[in-house]
Amino acid sequence: MLTNLAARDVETLIHPYTHLDKFRETGPIVFERGEGVHVFDTAGRPYLEGMAGLWCTSLGYSNRELAEAAREQMEKLPFQHIFSGRSHDPAIALAEKLKEIAPVPISKVTFCSSGSEANDTQVKLAWYMSNALGKPRKKKIIARTKGYHGVTVASASLTGLPANHALFDLPIQNVLHTSCPHHYRFAEAGETEEAFSARLAAELEEMILREDPDTVCAFIAEPVMGAGGALVPPAGYFEAIGAVCAKYDVRVIADEVICGFGRLGTMFGSQRLGMAPHTISVAKAITSAYMPLGAVMLDEPMYQAMLEGSREVGTFGHGFTYSGHPTACAVALKTLEIYERERIVEGVAAKEPHFLHRLAALEEHPLVGEARGLGLIAGIELVADKATKRQYEVKAGVAAKAIAFCQEEGLILRNLMGDRIAICPPLIITQAEIDELFDKLGRALDRTLDWIASQGM
Ligand code: PMP
Repeated sequence: MLTNLAARDVETLIHPYTHLDKFRETGPIVFERGEGVHVFDTAGRPYLEGMAGLWCTSLGYSNRELAEAAREQMEKLPFQHIFSGRSHDPAIALAEKLKEIAPVPISKVTFCSSGSEANDTQVKLAWYMSNALGKPRKKKIIARTKGYHGVTVASASLTGLPANHALFDLPIQNVLHTSCPHHYRFAEAGETEEAFSARLAAELEEMILREDPDTVCAFIAEPVMGAGGALVPPAGYFEAIGAVCAKYDVRVIADEVICGFGRLGTMFGSQRLGMAPHTISVAKAITSAYMPLGAVMLDEPMYQAMLEGSREVGTFGHGFTYSGHPTACAVALKTLEIYERERIVEGVAAKEPHFLHRLAALEEHPLVGEARGLGLIAGIELVADKATKRQYEVKAGVAAKAIAFCQEEGLILRNLMGDRIAICPPLIITQAEIDELFDKLGRALDRTLDWIASQGM
């Protein structure tokens, strides 16, 4: 029986990433408030938010300073656009701050409101740059199977997951996908991580040559893949891939929407994983998700090409009403100040060994084929047979069941395609809360195993 609020929901809302038909039976869990790393539903039940919302609430759920920063800016200047030569202090200061902390030399910053918009902007800027440089054929962008870059028409095209393409007539032309660097699933028997990386780099090179290097402008990747399974790349991957891109004048786009701002124990994921991007997309943790904000950080060659292009056209014809929204920028500035003052990124590095130790112990569990992570992000894959890595049938919904048991235990995690479970807690999580997370997950996995037996699977 649905509560009144839940019933009103079912009659009115379209929920993203939801099985629309089944949802009519189950309805939503409705949340009301948050405190630290916990959120509470309308019945007052607490849940440890083991996904930081959607990989984003790095500072947890009750940061008063962020609320105060938003209030102050709203009272002073709630909105000011930055079209046609207008500006304001929060946008200028935030762009300066991003340049200061960037992992590679950055010339300029352009703002938007989400990760999808940031990656959409990346596609448009890559094309604009090629045109401005007199290389109109250089338009193809290579992304990866299982990569996740968002849901707008261009960014969903970059995304390499079937549900984001089917029935949407995507991907658009000029987007290609190369193989997913998931060693556990896709390496050949006995293939080392380094050899797997070299093979993937060779495959990328073949793709570029087959397409014609003069038609390929960019390669986009997340340092650790998020929605594709919380997949940590094999050793040497970005070094090998980066060398191929450099050889053919293919620019590297880092999608730091999840890994940016400390998730891997370094300010940017690129730094931890040997990635040397030309442009960077950020969103999510830039405001700890307290306000919607995204950005693209771009290098001097791209800026020079944009200058050239806008001289020709007369105006640079891209930007959103909310590009550099002052309240979002003020909250981002406060978030970055807190990351530095509270040494949040160093804290992730300090907590990583315990997190990874508890994670690794899960591989002892009969259901867990792989448990792999980095910093404070991890993915575990459930299998029917560890030796052969065989999975349960998709329709059995084993990971979904495990997630439901987690929820009953008071833990929010997320199941992804291929019976994978993602773990991505707020960066402020304490060691005791990391233990709470893995204790609850362990109990949920035990209950899942009992359930599987009860179903005779
Ligand atoms: N890139 C990555 C790596 C992401 O994880 C996401 C969101 N999960 C996006 C882009 C899209 O961001 P948004 O949902 O804010 O549009």
